[in-house]
Amino acid sequence: AVAEAVRSTLGPKGMDKMLVDSMGDVTITNDGVTILKEMDIDNPTAEMIIEVAETQEDEAGDGTTTAVAVAGELLKNAEDLLEQDIHPTAIIKGFHLASQQAREEIDDISEHVDADDEDLLRKVAETSMTGKGAELDKELLAQIIVEAISSVTVEGQVDMQYLNIETQTGQSASNSELLKGAVIDKDPVHDNMPKSAEEANILLLNEAVEIEETDVDTEVNVTDPSQLQQFLDQEEKQLKQKVQQIVDSGADVVFCQKGIDDLAQHYLAKEGILAVRRTKKSDIRFLKNITGAAVVSDLDSIEAADLGRASVRRDEADELFYVEGIGDDVHGVTLLLRGSTDHVVDELERGVNDALDVVSTTVADGRTLAGGGAIEVELASRLRDYADSIEGREQLAVEAFADALELVPRVLAGNAGLDSIDLLVDLRAAHESGDQRAGLDVFSGDVVDTFDAGVVEPAHAKEQALSSATEAANLVL
Ligand code: ADP
Ligand code: MG
Repeated sequence: AVAEAVRSTLGPKGMDKMLVDSMGDVTITNDGVTILKEMDIDNPTAEMIIEVAETQEDEAGDGTTTAVAVAGELLKNAEDLLEQDIHPTAIIKGFHLASQQAREEIDDISEHVDADDEDLLRKVAETSMTGKGAELDKELLAQIIVEAISSVTVEGQVDMQYLNIETQTGQSASNSELLKGAVIDKDPVHDNMPKSAEEANILLLNEAVEIEETDVDTEVNVTDPSQLQQFLDQEEKQLKQKVQQIVDSGADVVFCQKGIDDLAQHYLAKEGILAVRRTKKSDIRFLKNITGAAVVSDLDSIEAADLGRASVRRDEADELFYVEGIGDDVHGVTLLLRGSTDHVVDELERGVNDALDVVSTTVADGRTLAGGGAIEVELASRLRDYADSIEGREQLAVEAFADALELVPRVLAGNAGLDSIDLLVDLRAAHESGDQRAGLDVFSGDVVDTFDAGVVEPAHAKEQALSSATEAANLVL
């Protein structure tokens, strides 16, 4: 049931699902793992299957639907074998052998991709976004995704901590862009503050610029008005001192993770310092990477070395700050995703996130495969040959594994309203005649070389999908 729930979303023609939770919040998605996470399930076997999706999401970032659908199909085929009185241990062994063999075959079938082959990497990104909310603008998005990954690749290593995603509602996805540095969706705390600062000293502060609250509940009794005035003066002095510490440090811009008192805002504005309060923790962490600043959590011990350097610019129309690091060895980039509504932006972000993961694992792994069911049909055919070399009942399990793989082209065809049986026959025939990359063009309904057609998947994600599907099926068995 779980596998069937996500199957209808597989591929470019798969349908989105709308999920409504108990609070009435709506999620519209095509993403396997998101659907499964939103589903309210308390069945131990079902939970194991959901774990497949989660592992897949963590390890590969894409292919979650495939992993779950294959796991479900493996179990369905195992059930047939159990009915023929084949012992679960024989099935487990056979599935295990088949999965191992599949990995070897994937390695053999895969096509190498160079880290700087942007053309092919763009195809990988586009394939991953097909059928998702990101699809309409997939060419532009694939372009900026590949650029983003290449700008955070340092000495051959992709370092995702230099990449941030920021979302904004209001414009269409085609206005999404890749920006150098950070984008902070905040306003200055005071109207009289400068709105931008070139080559400025940046302070990242994790301390409230407010009156310190006492740890215990206290009550202050005053006996005449002058004492009250004294008390207020003291508070003001405390605030002034904090602001003075910021001024003395030499900071031009302050990104504070906590609050900034009204009075302190006024003092900071008078000193010509740009201050932002309640900056997101993740933004502070990213700013740290870009500006080279340390996060100061106690103004009493602030040093000049804690400050970082960056240029800060204000985009008044979008009410955003652009923070760009200074120097050649600064990497951070931000993908600014735009969409008309929250639901649109959320689904766009999921699609782009998947594509980012896919491109970065492809750069690291260097192997790609022909999608659209091509790899699954080729694997199935090779596994059937392999099954012949195996003695005993395990052979039947290896064959059942091969059959389960063909679920992918069948479902891709079915979801596109095509005749899945006819197409599977055509696909098998093409592979028998040596056409390893023959897959399904779901738009025309033809069997084509999907690799040439630009349907390209990362080998690593496919390996991961097969091995986690096998492990889950074996656990259940
Ligand atoms: P998953 O969660 O498993 O990634 P998707 O809904 O993203 O599920 O579907 C992925 C499948 O769709 C892969 O098998 C991929 O090869 C196939 N696919 C993607 N784009 C195309 C296309 N243009 N034509 C045919 N198949 C495609
Ligand atoms: Mg996908």
